[in-house]
Amino acid sequence: MKGAAAGQSGQVIIVDFPEPAAKEDDVILEALVCGICATDVKLVQKGAKEAKYALGHELSGKIVKAPAKGQWKVGQHVVVAPYLPCDQCYYCKHGQPTLCKNLYEIYPFPGGLAERVYIPAELARRGMFAIPDDLSIELAALAEPLGCVIKGMEDSHFQAGDSLLVIGDGPMGQLAAAAGRSLGAGQVIVAGITDHRLRTAKQYYADTAVDVTQTNLHQVVAGCTDKRGADVVIVAVSSAEAISNGIAMVRPGGRVNIFAGVPEDTQITLDVRKVHYQQYFLTGSSGTAPAHMNKALELLQSKMVDYSAIISARYSFPKVGEAITYVKDRVGLKAVVTFS
Ligand SMILES: [Zn+2]
Ligand SMILES: [Zn+2]
Repeated sequence: MKGAAAGQSGQVIIVDFPEPAAKEDDVILEALVCGICATDVKLVQKGAKEAKYALGHELSGKIVKAPAKGQWKVGQHVVVAPYLPCDQCYYCKHGQPTLCKNLYEIYPFPGGLAERVYIPAELARRGMFAIPDDLSIELAALAEPLGCVIKGMEDSHFQAGDSLLVIGDGPMGQLAAAAGRSLGAGQVIVAGITDHRLRTAKQYYADTAVDVTQTNLHQVVAGCTDKRGADVVIVAVSSAEAISNGIAMVRPGGRVNIFAGVPEDTQITLDVRKVHYQQYFLTGSSGTAPAHMNKALELLQSKMVDYSAIISARYSFPKVGEAITYVKDRVGLKAVVTFS
């Protein structure tokens, strides 16, 4: 079965992956749609000597082999988690499944960007979800990235009515703004630097979209929040400066979430006197658990917010290299690869 993998730095190669022997309770999917994530771009830029796995983890697929007994049937459309918390370790038992010590032991093989994908029985049982009939297969492919966002909102103790500042106008920033809308944000402010992305944010997800190269974000946030600052700040840009700005714009007692991954040894200067007296919370989020993906499907299905503007380009398999370039060059928002 063919899959797209990272080759030499900057190259995507199409590889013939071995078909693993599926056990009776395992599931096999035919890939339908797979989103391209910044992680895929990073993996391709880094390059790999050996193609052990395919790229892609934001997969909608169709079941082509199901166990004789159980909830799954051939022909069903599903989304699947890229990894599975064990439910047994210290972190799982403390309600922090994305810190699971065994998080990467069970996963779809070879990955999302492959014609056929093997789902171990336990992943099919605890980390796979049927796509509701009235939700498109393409939008369902947002369940994984939206699940990551929902986890970030949870970690930020986001509540309906909260003002939400999202720093970053890329696909994850837009998803955070959209999720804020879905979850009843009092107001949503998106800060970015790219004109066309800010226009999308303003049209679909944000009350206010701010081009930080033109406008003083501090003043805008102060003006929108009675000078308090935002209740919740999600930093969806990979930079120390963006994190520092986020901290400067949260209200006393508010929550800042370092959502985007940053390079190793990224440092900021923190005024700890302010942490003490202004009593704000600094949180971090990475990854998603099956429960967040299930919640994401609910939000996508609810139609309260139109998530479709986040997917801005479609490439047919095997043109994965072009899709990666599209995302790397920030031409639009999210690209997806379609299989037929
Ligand atoms: Zn992703
Ligand atoms: Zn665990």
